[in-house]
This record gives sequence, structure tokens and C-alpha cells, in this order.
Amino acid sequence: MAMKPSLSQNANTIPLPVGQSVEQRPIELYVFGDTPDNQIDTLILGVFHGDEPIAGDVCYKLIEHLKIHSTKHSVGIVPVLNPDGLAKEQRQNANMVDLNRNYPTKDWKEADKDTIYYSGRAAASEPETQVVINLMELHQPKKIITVHAPYKVINYDGPALSLAQSMAAHSGYLVTEDIGYATLGSFGTYAGKERNIPVITLELPEDEPLEAVWKDNQQALIAAIEFQG
Ligand SMILES: [Zn+2]
Repeated sequence: MAMKPSLSQNANTIPLPVGQSVEQRPIELYVFGDTPDNQIDTLILGVFHGDEPIAGDVCYKLIEHLKIHSTKHSVGIVPVLNPDGLAKEQRQNANMVDLNRNYPTKDWKEADKDTIYYSGRAAASEPETQVVINLMELHQPKKIITVHAPYKVINYDGPALSLAQSMAAHSGYLVTEDIGYATLGSFGTYAGKERNIPVITLELPEDEPLEAVWKDNQQALIAAIEFQG
């Protein structure tokens, strides 16, 4: 019988290559749960910033958890969106662009050149940004969680307050709508404010052991995956 290619054939096993970084490192998507019509309800994105490795470590913990404890809720996890930055231990990608300032929002502008917040030569100029935009178009996620460090808060954009609160009920992290500084061209603005998709920016601590951070966030992340808005 001919098999229609689908995400679910890859569930629990091998990550799907979904793109490449500037330096051609693979960017990989792990998929779990039922994905009819390639729909992924929850998209989780780790390591926008290469100097936040705890974000990837916690995503890999979640992947290992989901390999053992299956879920019917569809979830896609990109543990490392910025593999070049991770390899170089720097915030930006290999073009020295802050990937959380490169989204094609209404407020994007070429700004902060020669700083660690450089927004890029054009909106969505970076391959890592294009990977995320493509994933959103292909899989139409209903909610998105990006994982960062080091503020130990749950920040949200768009209609995500109740989702944020459901996570905080498990982790005890503070819920904040405003991170406290302008972030032109940010992913939260692109997906949350301008596309009305609930977006969580989970800020992990960077000075605590991985096991402790995972213990605090495991149930919060499971709750987010199971959350029905
Ligand atoms: Zn970050």
C-alpha cells in the first residue's frame, strides 16, 4: 500500500531537517503526537540566542520525556534554532544578527548595527528566521513557546495570558506581559501581537543546574502542550 508521507511516521524517532543555518548546520524538528494534515498544535523553539544553551538542554530533556511518555497532543520541538551561535557561544547567528530582532514585523528596521541586537540587513534576511516562518505556514501552530534565558519569568505576547498562567501554576515563575524594553522585529510581535497566535517566551535561569531547571519546568511544559485555549 502506498504510504502518504506524513509527520507522524517520524514521530518519536528521528528529527526532521527543516533548514540550515548560515554556516549550514542542520536545524532539526522533533515531532510527537497525532498530526492530522501535518497540523502541529504546539511549536516549541529553543536557542534563538546561542549564549543561552540551557534553552536547548531543557528542550532535549522534553524530547527525551516525550519519547518515553507518548502524547496524543501534537507538538513540534526545534531544540536549537541558532546552531551557529551555540557553537560560537554568542547571542547572534553567524551573520551577527540577533534572531529575535529579524522578524518581518511592522516595527522592523535596520537597527543597532555593531551591537549584539543587530536586526539584520533586511527583515527575515536570515535563514534561521525563514525556517520559523516556513514552519508556521506549513504547520499552523495554535500556540508557540520560545525558550530563552536568564530572567526566570514567563513572558507572553498575543492572547496567551491563560496559557502563561497554566505554566506558572507548575513552575512558580512570574508571568509578565512586558519584558521591560523595546524589541523591534521580535518573534513575539510577529507571531503574538501581529498574528494573534498565543506566544510564550519562557525565560529560564542560567545559574541553576539543568536537573533543577528541568524539574521546575517539566510539568509546566507538559501543561502547555496539553493546554486547550
Ligand atoms: Zn534569548
